[in-house]
Amino acid sequence: MSDVAPTGHENTAAAGFTVPLNLSPSRVSSFTSCPMQFRFSSIQKLPEPPGVATTKGTIVHRALELLFVRPAAERTPDALVADLDTALTEYGTHPDYVGLRLDDDAAASFRRDCSTLTERYFAMEDPTSVREIGLELWLTAPVGALTLRGIIDRLELDEHGGLVVTDYKTGRAPSGRYEQKSLAGVHFYAFLCHAVFDRIPAKIRLMYLQTGETIETVPSAQSVRFITTRTKAVWTAIERACTTGEFRPNTSNLCNYCAFQQWCPAFDGNPDDAEAEARAAYEALIAAEPVAVGAR
Ligand code: SF4
Repeated sequence: MSDVAPTGHENTAAAGFTVPLNLSPSRVSSFTSCPMQFRFSSIQKLPEPPGVATTKGTIVHRALELLFVRPAAERTPDALVADLDTALTEYGTHPDYVGLRLDDDAAASFRRDCSTLTERYFAMEDPTSVREIGLELWLTAPVGALTLRGIIDRLELDEHGGLVVTDYKTGRAPSGRYEQKSLAGVHFYAFLCHAVFDRIPAKIRLMYLQTGETIETVPSAQSVRFITTRTKAVWTAIERACTTGEFRPNTSNLCNYCAFQQWCPAFDGNPDDAEAEARAAYEALIAAEPVAVGAR
């Protein structure tokens, strides 16, 4: 599942921050994890250097999308190899790939990792038996004044005609309490299906291609109602932050991966410098020559 592009349907609050009227599930989650990071990425929309893992995930998602465009009988391992080649070619000049600055060895390693993920997919299910009805499906639904938006990797029918949402994951499967947190995100997609198709999915599946694990959950009317309540509460908090200009930094282990750490007040940075400096740093990164970096 993916993030949401800006749409222009926005309000400007007194503090000068734009109140978004469209949110994706990952943006909602981003605000609850760290409001300051949400300000940088979702309100100011500052560019972030691409990450190897994220770009790998994007390319593997694209390869699987191409596989499912094929007639069912043609969804073979060889076809997926060809589809991965196509996806890698498509992204060869994309800033999310170019910005990784991979040298030849690192690019070869990147490619091998993508192949490993797609090979593992075939050990997890038989794509010729999947009855898909939508791929990379954009869904939107109103929640009060807000529009919640999201993209479903694959929507399909089970043997009883029930809707099944399948989400490919290229990172590691969560363990213990983090499993429930991960599933909490996918309930957004049950909410969107209910709003758009007036049907709650029979099942939501997370396919972890790195480990071969599949996690499944059965959404309910209660879990769909909970999403509505929670989203309204989060949006009210976002609106308040935009109005007051107070986006609190919330330090956690996510700080280790945060592209905005140097401008974060929790790390003695000045958030007001981020607007110019983050954009300049991104432009310089995209224009730079490839360097030898690991593809993992
Ligand atoms: S460094 Fe940590 S606290 Fe600061 S914006 Fe990033 S995630 Fe938030």
